[in-house]
Amino acid sequence: MSLSQLFKIVKKNFQEPTPVAPSTAPVQTYTPEVAKKMQELLGKHVPAHAVEYCFELWKEQPFSFKISRSRSSCFGNYTFRDGQHKITVNNDLSTYAFVITYVHEIAHQRAWLNKSRRKIEPHGKEWKKNFQVLMSPILNLNVFPETVLVPLTQYMANPAASSVSYAPLAKALQGFEIFEQNGVLLADVADNQWFTFRNTVFQRLEKRRTRILCMERTSKRRYTILATARVNLLEA
Ligand SMILES: [Zn+2]
Repeated sequence: MSLSQLFKIVKKNFQEPTPVAPSTAPVQTYTPEVAKKMQELLGKHVPAHAVEYCFELWKEQPFSFKISRSRSSCFGNYTFRDGQHKITVNNDLSTYAFVITYVHEIAHQRAWLNKSRRKIEPHGKEWKKNFQVLMSPILNLNVFPETVLVPLTQYMANPAASSVSYAPLAKALQGFEIFEQNGVLLADVADNQWFTFRNTVFQRLEKRRTRILCMERTSKRRYTILATARVNLLEA
């Protein structure tokens, strides 16, 4: 199946909109400090073109968010206890697996908030519908490389509880985990060297305490990136 055929199917599946707007008022409010921290965390873990969207999802229905160390049993977790929404996502996921897991967990929250029946299945039709609707704005080549987007789009047609239960998607995601782990520490890169970080090309400029001043190639804007970040060197 070609990519454009797939998009047609996805578009068809997503055309019937489900109200995403929460039926209840946000149960948690947030302070500017918490919002800033949230944006920082997302900036570190999700693909650049999905950061703003992921942040908007959090603002719509805030939840307490934690990045947890790797658990072999699951990639993330959602709980609702004592009026508190809580989401955790594992810290060792590639940016692509991370954003899929993040939206997967938010779909649990939305399914819970909008449920019309007393009891719903954890990965039943309410969750599936919410997951599809919430993923659709980022299901594109700005956020995912084609190798991930194709199996991801197929998986999203009828998402199962675990994204890795769909072998082609698991395989594509694994490739990126290895790629990101194989990088070098930015601290060990020479000044003026070009490298990629989170699918963006930068040049290392100079060291500043715990961070390194870098320049993004297209915009020429300067950013500081943690010296402990893993990056991939570009040939000169
Ligand atoms: Zn789940």
